[in-house]
Amino acid sequence: MTENCNNILRLIYSLRQAGITDNQILSCIEHTDRSKFLGKGFKNRSSENIPLPISCGQTISQPTVVAKMMQLLELSRKDKVLEIGTGSGYQAVLLSKLVRRVYTVERQSVLARQATDLIAKLAIGNITVIRGDGALGLPIQAPFDKILVTAAAEETPKLLLDQLKTNGIMVLPLGPVDDYQILTKITKKTGFLEYQELDRVNFVPLLPDIN
Ligand code: SAH
Repeated sequence: MTENCNNILRLIYSLRQAGITDNQILSCIEHTDRSKFLGKGFKNRSSENIPLPISCGQTISQPTVVAKMMQLLELSRKDKVLEIGTGSGYQAVLLSKLVRRVYTVERQSVLARQATDLIAKLAIGNITVIRGDGALGLPIQAPFDKILVTAAAEETPKLLLDQLKTNGIMVLPLGPVDDYQILTKITKKTGFLEYQELDRVNFVPLLPDIN
């Protein structure tokens, strides 16, 4: 077995240890080469279970956190998913393998362009990358079955909740952007929201739009 193969199996083992039980998610991570989403200086560290830097001072999340968020979303093949914070495109690509359609919004045009090019190169046809302010959601494609926010928000973005279907699930890091946040799962029940607070996490902030 090659060194790289060993590293990936070690990563999958650590995801299992961290409570990831969904075999579809584990298989998806095993077969998606994270090095493709990283710059030259970090490709050789792609199997490490840590966040790593990408362009524009942003980060690709830690695989454990990526997997946990996907598991919390209770993904189904029929789902139309909105992701806020495309970053490298890694999370969007993983999602695209388990659901029908992924829309992903990124504030930084450089990142949005790089992710679009990479997704085209990988010949993935069910992801659309949009350059814009994710806090506004994507009303034109709403409502969504699931919404994933991969940047830290102090409060639940109201416009995103409006774009979630009844019984839909939103997962986001909630809390102060200069400290750690709490990974939160919100289920939109008829007439009320059910909040479930999970792990302590540390995400880059959800920022106001550039333009
Ligand atoms: N999901 C990414 C990692 C996200 S890092 C991956 O798999 O690589 C968080 C991203 O959110 C950054 O790229 C940052 O530019 C973006 N972001 C921050 N504020 C935003 C906003 N208001 N709208 C859209 N994207 C935003």
